[in-house]
Amino acid sequence: MTVTDLVPYEDALASYDPVMGLEVHVELGTKTKMFCGCATTLGADANAQTCPTCLGLPGSLPVVNAIGVESAIKIGLALNCSIAEWCRFARKNYFYPDMPKNFQTSQYDEPIAYDGYLDVQLEDGEVFRVQIERAHMEEDTGKSTHVGGATGRIHGASHSLLDYNRAGIPLIEIVTKPIEGAGERAPEVAKAYVAELRELVRALGVSEARMEMGQMRCDVNLSLRPNGTETFGTRSETKNVNSLRSVERAARFEIQRHAAVLSSGGTIVQETRHFHEEDGSTTAGRIKDNAEDYRYFPEPDLVPVAPARAWVEELRAVLPELPRIRRNRLREEWGVSAHDMQSILNAGAVDLIVATIEAGAGSAAARKWWMGELARRANEDGVELAALPITPAQVARVAALVDEGSLNDKLARQTIEGVLAGEGDPDTVVEKRGLKVVSDEGALGAAVDEAIVGNAAIADKIRGGKVAAAGALVGAVMKATRGQADAARVRELILEKLGVEG
Ligand SMILES: [Zn+2]
Repeated sequence: MTVTDLVPYEDALASYDPVMGLEVHVELGTKTKMFCGCATTLGADANAQTCPTCLGLPGSLPVVNAIGVESAIKIGLALNCSIAEWCRFARKNYFYPDMPKNFQTSQYDEPIAYDGYLDVQLEDGEVFRVQIERAHMEEDTGKSTHVGGATGRIHGASHSLLDYNRAGIPLIEIVTKPIEGAGERAPEVAKAYVAELRELVRALGVSEARMEMGQMRCDVNLSLRPNGTETFGTRSETKNVNSLRSVERAARFEIQRHAAVLSSGGTIVQETRHFHEEDGSTTAGRIKDNAEDYRYFPEPDLVPVAPARAWVEELRAVLPELPRIRRNRLREEWGVSAHDMQSILNAGAVDLIVATIEAGAGSAAARKWWMGELARRANEDGVELAALPITPAQVARVAALVDEGSLNDKLARQTIEGVLAGEGDPDTVVEKRGLKVVSDEGALGAAVDEAIVGNAAIADKIRGGKVAAAGALVGAVMKATRGQADAARVRELILEKLGVEG
């Protein structure tokens, strides 16, 4: 189906009610893998971080990573889940070349966390509660690279390379209950949910959750039912969507596609689908297997996980302030609108602004620099704000120099430019580039005198009462001082010297 076959979004919603299910995989930031001691650092040579256990060699035995379990419990608690008193791992059996054991160690009917919820805030401030079915522990697969074809896909490739460094890295899979009642806002709810989850796992310190690096990915299940009916329709599952925007687009596309199929009398096939970034469309993958096809059975090589209640309560007691609550607190402290706070969140600037304020800047100045000049630079360079080579302390120092009158706005921007270019900290850049505002009254007075002499006709007009003409003289002085004068003070001096009232 091409994009043109879709039913317009509003028309789809006029007839059908979307029901979503979101499955999010979060890669934990543990130092070692889930069932062996192999390192998890990114960028290692292919297969350098493997051992008999994660390669599934005969005779090897897995051991559970305690930090992995602790992270799963923290996520479960932050999602308001019950934590299992006793649960087991299970083998999910299927063959795929990137899975050397021939089964994935996962959890099946005994997840470590279940029955919770996450409140997510939509752009207009409305709060929508997403019910959580379960959060369970499992391991990632290896990575295949298909070589020799034009598209990087297996079709047309001459051979494939396998890297098992990722095989066995701990994952937490978080599964929602069916999300009903979102109506036309379903795609927005999906995006807000994934965004909130990302903030949550970051706040818990269990994952960096960088979607562009695959550390967090979302499967979007979607079905439609005729408005006013209860029974769920057949669902499709769009796999591995890896940006917030794509989550929203995938849900929207599937709503329009399902509506097109259903309204023309067709049937939805239960299948997995691939999402395409270029045009926001999805295409059919494989027919979806049922759980029984995987022949799940309890993992015989691992002892059950039975977290002591005292430990769970200890972890609950030290949970950080949840992101949504923290954001609302900061929003009030900073006096910004819900919409502006959303922009700050989307830009990844919340923590940077907080750190800049802690380093001594006012909240307005901290927001101004991070969301203005620095956001623009990050955007130009195609990097995350946090990846810019400038620290919150340096931004706070620039703000302080502006406050004390040593820098004006333009000079402050040049100072930031110097810091980003690696010329040193703000004071060094100001010194090296000679950026200080000319505050020496004598030098300033001389520059003003010169401007008056050089622009006699304008000076006469001002003397005659055309105060507005002073702008031209201010411009001349600013030019002469290479922008390093305080424009307001220059104007005062001009009017003073010409004997007119401002
Ligand atoms: Zn290993």
